[in-house]
Amino acid sequence: MKADRCPSEVKLIAVTKTVGIEAVAEAARCGLRLFGESRVQEAFAKIGQFGSIQKSEGYLGVEWHLIGHLQTNKAKLAVQLFDLIHSVDSITLAEELDRQAAKAGKVQKILVQAKLAEEDTKHGIKENELKPLIERINGLKNLELRGLMAIPPYSENAEDARGYFKRLYLLRESLRNDGFLLPELSMGMSHDFEVAIQEGATMVRIGTAIFGERE
Ligand SMILES: *Cc1c(COP(=O)(O)O)cnc(C)c1O
Repeated sequence: MKADRCPSEVKLIAVTKTVGIEAVAEAARCGLRLFGESRVQEAFAKIGQFGSIQKSEGYLGVEWHLIGHLQTNKAKLAVQLFDLIHSVDSITLAEELDRQAAKAGKVQKILVQAKLAEEDTKHGIKENELKPLIERINGLKNLELRGLMAIPPYSENAEDARGYFKRLYLLRESLRNDGFLLPELSMGMSHDFEVAIQEGATMVRIGTAIFGERE
């Protein structure tokens, strides 16, 4: 691969949605430490099960990330469960997460999910609303904004995603010029992670390429 990137710059998030606890444990035995889930309820059960395995097998540095859409009414549980929430896409959700994090005595790490294409079905904040959201989050004491995330429209051909990854990178550059730090770029999945890494991803979210096809 010709990305000219250092491996330590790119974190692998093993996406464990629909994956049974035994396979998650096996992934931990193989050295994976960062796990991504799409749904709060499924994660709640799995993180509980994993807790006892972690205790007996002694894994350190395990993190759980929420990569799927989050409804405001699940913010409280999400704050209890996740080290990083990749999918913040509204001021309402950010404010609720901040409120719940304050109550829990936690500073919640988050990414803002950007919507780069006009698809109604995709979540994420529109480009022209991105900066106001980030300015608002900056004023919330119990949130730590770590960066941006995006999911390009699905295409068989990974090259089709390149323009979207470039766009997210440039959005981050422009926000950096405004003084926001934003170290993380969460982009790239099983079929397009190589392109995402070439375009500057710091986190790739990989499910099927690790665990096989989901049912
Ligand atoms: C399921 C999912 C992934 C992983 O997808 P694969 O194609 O299985 O690698 C990554 N990101 C998000 C947001 C997902 O929902």
